[in-house]
Amino acid sequence: MTQVPLLDLSALHAELGDELASAALRVLGSERVLLGPELAAFEQAWAAQVGAAHGVGVGNGLDALALGLRAFDVGPGDEVLVPAHTFIATWLAVVHVGATPVPVDVSDRTGLWDADAVGAAVGPRTRAMIPVHLYGHPVDLDPLLAIARRHGLVVLDDAAQAHGARYRGRPVGGLCDATTWSFYPGKNLGAVGDGGAVTTSDPAVADRLRSLRNYGSTEKYVHDEIGWNSRLDELQAALLSVKLRRLDEHNARRAVVAERYAHALGDCGLTLPGTAPWARHAWHQYVVRTPHRDALHDHLAALGVQTVIHYPVPPHHQGAFATLLTHGELPVAEALAREVLSLPMGPHLSEQEQVHVIDSIRSFRP
Ligand SMILES: *Cc1c(COP(=O)(O)O)cnc(C)c1O
Repeated sequence: MTQVPLLDLSALHAELGDELASAALRVLGSERVLLGPELAAFEQAWAAQVGAAHGVGVGNGLDALALGLRAFDVGPGDEVLVPAHTFIATWLAVVHVGATPVPVDVSDRTGLWDADAVGAAVGPRTRAMIPVHLYGHPVDLDPLLAIARRHGLVVLDDAAQAHGARYRGRPVGGLCDATTWSFYPGKNLGAVGDGGAVTTSDPAVADRLRSLRNYGSTEKYVHDEIGWNSRLDELQAALLSVKLRRLDEHNARRAVVAERYAHALGDCGLTLPGTAPWARHAWHQYVVRTPHRDALHDHLAALGVQTVIHYPVPPHHQGAFATLLTHGELPVAEALAREVLSLPMGPHLSEQEQVHVIDSIRSFRP
């Protein structure tokens, strides 16, 4: 039986195998394996790609968020607005710097933040907000930035799923005070292991991040503040530089896949993902919504089609946050947790595989 994975990473690594191998050998034959020329080159290339002045590589996307908050001195006593529908890392970072996450529900139509709800949630202790470009669709940032300006809030956007997304013609990554990235292997730009980065156009914030990621040190054995050890190593930086050269082409292939789904699934009773007229979607995931989600998942699994739920339990119902929070009703996040399903998506999903996914969905009877 045809087996279609959610994402075919081995096909990506096969396509780039020779280039990845020679990048890895270059690092093995070099003097530096940490904080060296591969990292500097990747940081520069990544910042340029996303329209920011500076890029700072860190250990992973969670650390990018936590270090990003620390770089703006967000900490104990501060509240940070976070979407109710996101991967849990967005919330964890807030707790890791000693601040309190305050969830704001998302729009039922887009699954993303809508400025009215965010504006209504700003209180006297609010210091920052973290818009999340979930699944690769950019959040409508201009109204959020206006709210932030009015209240003096930091805007740190979580772009872990949005490599290559554009907002009103400009790339995500240089639009807010700072933008955080994950290079987890399954992201649109992924390392062969963990990795992350923060991009910003504020040179003081970039310097602060370089210190925070390296033991609070700018000079060896001089420690001016409480830092972390969270560095993007030379090997991952070299591999990421190879993959970065293909990002635009791979995202274009994702868009073709999304187009085919939209064309073939319009009359199946599923709610398909939309794209705002001002947005370029990065199509990290192709997420459909249906009240028959679990049955559809099982039907597809029986036909060899792997689908995943992003995410089955919202952060406010996770044990990790059981004692920490008081929160109001978050009905959209809860409905999404019951109804979303991510279909196979990626630059190496063949047309033939996709036809099997589509036929399998079309044969579903709830
Ligand atoms: C993947 C992800 C993160 C965390 O990245 P890691 O590199 O796995 O730590 C944060 N936020 C979102 C929205 C993500 O999808």
